Amino acid sequence: MNRRVVTFHYTLRDPEGRVLDSSAGNPPVSYLEGAGQIIDGLDQRLRTVAAGAKTRVQVPAAEAYGERDPEQVQRVKRVLLPVDGEVQIGETFRTGEDRQAPVVTVVGIEGDEVLLDGNHPLAGVALTFDVEVVGAREATAEELSHGHAHGDGAGGGGCGEGCGCH
Ligand code: ZN
Repeated sequence: MNRRVVTFHYTLRDPEGRVLDSSAGNPPVSYLEGAGQIIDGLDQRLRTVAAGAKTRVQVPAAEAYGERDPEQVQRVKRVLLPVDGEVQIGETFRTGEDRQAPVVTVVGIEGDEVLLDGNHPLAGVALTFDVEVVGAREATAEELSHGHAHGDGAGGGGCGEGCGCH
């Protein structure tokens, strides 16, 4: 089967039914199948879903943001953090200037030290997506060579960033 560009709306919930994210109120998201533009477990499970269909997709943690890795929790001196005021549990920091730099979450404060968790906030969480596929078409040769969707939709309009196509 040829690879498709799929455009969809979604609502993402955790196992307790809390809404974590949703495309409601925003343009639908477009992605090229198998290109790593969305989490792999969702990509795989939408392969056989046709345009117009609504479906519920459940993705185990291992196929979403991975299992939690206890080794990713580090203890650092409070003074080394890039903040002036109080540090609070749940606060997040980017570990570098780069937009792609990993984000860590403060999970503990012990005296002048803090515990920083480098796991993705959704690591270890099974995800449930309620998906409405609003469009699906065959990918163009240009999209296949760039490895992402072009054109319509939030995920597809952003070509140019890190892409040599324009
Ligand atoms: Zn491109």
